[in-house]
Amino acid sequence: MGMTFTLPKLTRKIFAYVKIVSIIISILIMLIISKASFSGEALRELESSLRIGSTFLSLLFRGLIVLLINAVLVALVRTLWFHFEKVPENTAVIKSGDLFMYKAGSIAGISRLQSELERIIESSRGSVVGIVNTIVSMGFSLAASDIHLSPGADTVEVVFRVQGNLYPMGKIPLRLYPHLVRRVKILSGLSIFKQGVPQDGQLNFEDTAFTARVSVFPTSNGERIALRLANVNARIMDLDNIGMPENILLDYKALLNRSQGMIVITGPTGSGKSTTMFSSLLNIQTQRKDSVNIVTLEDPIETNLEGFQQTQVGQATGLTFPTALRSVLRQDPDVIMLGEIRDEETASIAIRAAMTGHLLLTTVHANSTSGVFNRLSQMGVDPVQLSSAIHAVLSQRLCRQLCPSCRKIIELTSFHVRQLKLLGVEDIPEGPFYEAEGCTECLGRGFIGQVALFEMLLVTDHLRDFISRGLPAHQLSREARKAGMPTLLDHGLDFARQGKISLTELTRVVSE
Ligand SMILES: [Zn+2]
Repeated sequence: MGMTFTLPKLTRKIFAYVKIVSIIISILIMLIISKASFSGEALRELESSLRIGSTFLSLLFRGLIVLLINAVLVALVRTLWFHFEKVPENTAVIKSGDLFMYKAGSIAGISRLQSELERIIESSRGSVVGIVNTIVSMGFSLAASDIHLSPGADTVEVVFRVQGNLYPMGKIPLRLYPHLVRRVKILSGLSIFKQGVPQDGQLNFEDTAFTARVSVFPTSNGERIALRLANVNARIMDLDNIGMPENILLDYKALLNRSQGMIVITGPTGSGKSTTMFSSLLNIQTQRKDSVNIVTLEDPIETNLEGFQQTQVGQATGLTFPTALRSVLRQDPDVIMLGEIRDEETASIAIRAAMTGHLLLTTVHANSTSGVFNRLSQMGVDPVQLSSAIHAVLSQRLCRQLCPSCRKIIELTSFHVRQLKLLGVEDIPEGPFYEAEGCTECLGRGFIGQVALFEMLLVTDHLRDFISRGLPAHQLSREARKAGMPTLLDHGLDFARQGKISLTELTRVVSE
C-alpha cells in the first residue's frame, strides 16, 4: 500500500485515551439517536416491543447499547491502528532513548561509572534489559573498543578495553547471567537455544551511528560475550594529528596526491589502520576539493564519511569484495578505499585498478612492510606488477602511552639490552628510559592514552628492482633500511627517549 502516514506504536497509555474518547463518542451517538425524531421513535418502538416499560429499564437498555457501540468503536480503532502503526523491523533493538550516554570525560571518569554500574545492577531486581543498556551506554561513553562479559565460578566480570588497557567495570551475579546472555542474543539475532557453540552477530541499534559486533563463546563457566564497539559518527582525525613522524608525513601526503597506484597499510588488528585510512581519504578530499570521486568498499562500514560513497560488502550483504570492486570500477572512481585484500581475485583486480588510473588505498595482513610484497605474490600477483603498482607500504602499531604523572626513570638492565638487540637495535641510544608506575590519575595502570608508531617503505627505483625480482621479505627489509627507511623501531626508540612509551611496551608491540 502506498500509504505514507504511520501511527506511533499503540502503547497502553495511548490505548487508554482511545477508550475514553470512544466511550464519550458512544454516549453522544446514543443521545443523538434518542433525540432525533425518526431514530428516537424507532428506539421507543423497539423498547415497547421488548416490553421495557419503566424509565429505569429503559436507561439500562440504552446503557447497554452505549457499551455495544463503544466496543465496536474500540475494536475498529485498534484494527486500523495496527494496520497503520509503525512497527520496528526488528523489535529487539536498543532504542536511542535507552542509550543514555554517560558523561565519562576521560579515564578519570571510569571509577564513577564503576559505582554507577554497581548501583544499577543492585537496583535492577532481575531485569537485565537495563543492565545491558547501561553497559553498552557506558562502553560508548568511554569510547571503549571492546566490552567483555566473562563468567567465572561465582560472578561475571564486566571488563572494558579503553585506549588499549583493560578496566574491570563491575560484577554481575551468576543467577542473572543466563538472562543477560539471552537478552544480548535476542538483540543480535542469535539463536537463544544453541549454547555450546560459538556464535557471531551484530547488536541492533535504533540509531545506526552505533554498531557493535557480538561474539558468544562457550566456556566451562557459561557463555563468554565479547562486544566490539564502533561509533560510525566518530570524528575523523586530521592526518596531521594521527602522530605520523614528520619525515613520513611529508612523503605520504605527496603520495596521496597521485592519480594512480596503490598504497597499502599493514599492521595487526587494533593498530589504528582504519583511523589512518579515513584520515588519508579526508586529506585527499581536502587537497583535491570537489574534483575527486571517492568510493569505499568496507566490511563493515566503521565510520561515516561526509560526501563519500560508502558501500558495505561481506556476508551481511552477500556482496563480495571482488564483485563489488569490479562493479565499482564502472562508476568512474578516482580514489578507491578497499577494506582489505585477502584473496587472489581481489588482489588481481586491485592491482589492475591501480595501474589503470585509480588511486587505491587498502590493507593487507602481513608481519612487516616488506612482507606485504611476499603476501601479495603468494596471492598470485606478479612481482613485476607489484613493483610498479605499489607506491608505498605503511606499517603501524599502537602503544600505550606512559602516564606523565607517575612514569619513572629506569636503569637499563642487561635484560633490556638483550631485548633490544633481539629486535635488531645495534647502537642502543643514550637514555633516560622510563617505565610505568601507576597513580590515581591513571587508575593505577601507569598508562594514559595511546600513540601510534609508523614505518613507511617507499618504493623507490632502487627498491623497485628488488621487488620485481621477488626478493624475500627480510632481504627487502634490509635493503630498505640501508636506503634510509624510517622504521617502527626508530619511531619507537624516539618515543621511548621522550618518555612517551616504555621499553617493555616498545618490545611488545614491535615484535608483533
Ligand atoms: Zn599515573
